[in-house]
Amino acid sequence: MPGHEIIGEEERAAVNEIFDRGGVFYPSGFEERREHVFLIEAFEKAVADRIKVQHALFVASGTAALKTALFGLGVGKGDEFITQSHTFVATVEAGLELGATPVITEVDETLNMDPDDLRSSITSNTAAIVPVHMYGVSAYMDEILKIAEEHEIPVLEDSAWGMGSSYNDKPLGTIGDVGIYSFNFGKTITTGEGGMIVTDDSAVYQAAKEYSNHGHEDNPDLLPGEDTRTHWGFNYKTHEVAAAIGLAQLKKLDRVIEAQRANKMALRERLRGLGLTYRRRPNPAGESGRTLAIRLDSAEEAGTLEERLSDHGIGTLNLPSAIKWHFAGEWEHIFGTLPHHGGLPLDECWPRSRALLNRTVALPISVKMSDAELDTLAEVVRSI
Ligand SMILES: *Cc1c(COP(=O)(O)O)cnc(C)c1O
Repeated sequence: MPGHEIIGEEERAAVNEIFDRGGVFYPSGFEERREHVFLIEAFEKAVADRIKVQHALFVASGTAALKTALFGLGVGKGDEFITQSHTFVATVEAGLELGATPVITEVDETLNMDPDDLRSSITSNTAAIVPVHMYGVSAYMDEILKIAEEHEIPVLEDSAWGMGSSYNDKPLGTIGDVGIYSFNFGKTITTGEGGMIVTDDSAVYQAAKEYSNHGHEDNPDLLPGEDTRTHWGFNYKTHEVAAAIGLAQLKKLDRVIEAQRANKMALRERLRGLGLTYRRRPNPAGESGRTLAIRLDSAEEAGTLEERLSDHGIGTLNLPSAIKWHFAGEWEHIFGTLPHHGGLPLDECWPRSRALLNRTVALPISVKMSDAELDTLAEVVRSI
């Protein structure tokens, strides 16, 4: 468990200051009462400065960030967007909400988008490519960008888990045309609920911003009530309390990542010599350290390890415990009503992903882990 483990006095003080300034939660207006302090803007600027992008937009959730980003890229009815079989259902929902059709690739040993399968999934209707950096481990972005550029298709990085992680020294989320982060309670840093869009593309930013606020075009010469609009939007705005917490959490981001990486190293050290097969990482030095994913010989063996961990009160990170929410092959409620890969029954789709994911156990790495906890984890793995 990451940023939420170290929520403390800093977050509390930041929230109290809002009350000391008159209790304005709204993103705009109330200039005097809020003493001209705008925390959402400050949080957006702090993130943008940290990762060196032009624009950041703080919205209600990572899912809302994905949807508004796709809208910003012009994805809509009749379009296809390509993402990977191993992700949270939100990635697919975001495009469905806009009337677009999800096209799903296999994952490779990175547990992220398989570039070869991406290449064969592109059609004349592909409007966006959405690789996901699951658990803060990057996808093969060089290969993915090359394919995207060949076909002139924009790339949206679902970097929900990727804040603070990087690929070839570039922050995850800043490699494609637009990226998103999630600040839900389980992600690297948290605002309770929240998400952010980051991009250097002013047009994408502007469209996403308008969509997140009912289509308001923020015309500086007009009062809000007389504002212009060209497209409807929705309400994906957030509030100052979340931004206050976000600013405090952002200051702890380096600490979260450093601690997770150190604990992961310590665990790997304890498992040395067992000949284990780990998830492949395109850029080990840049990963978040949020999980140590081990690939076992069979789904049965993975199940046994999960049970033994559970006997010690230790859960796994989605794999295998929550695979039903994190593998497209389990989403009958979505693909049951859509034409999907070759009209195959869902349990025959993405067989390579299924075989990889079923055999993988993602051990959770926390910020705060004692030697005793690390010893226990290592012992349970050793027992298999
Ligand atoms: C968490 C998550 C999201 C959605 O973020 P929320 O803030 O919970 O809406 C999107 N994509 C992935 C891969 C996620 O894990």
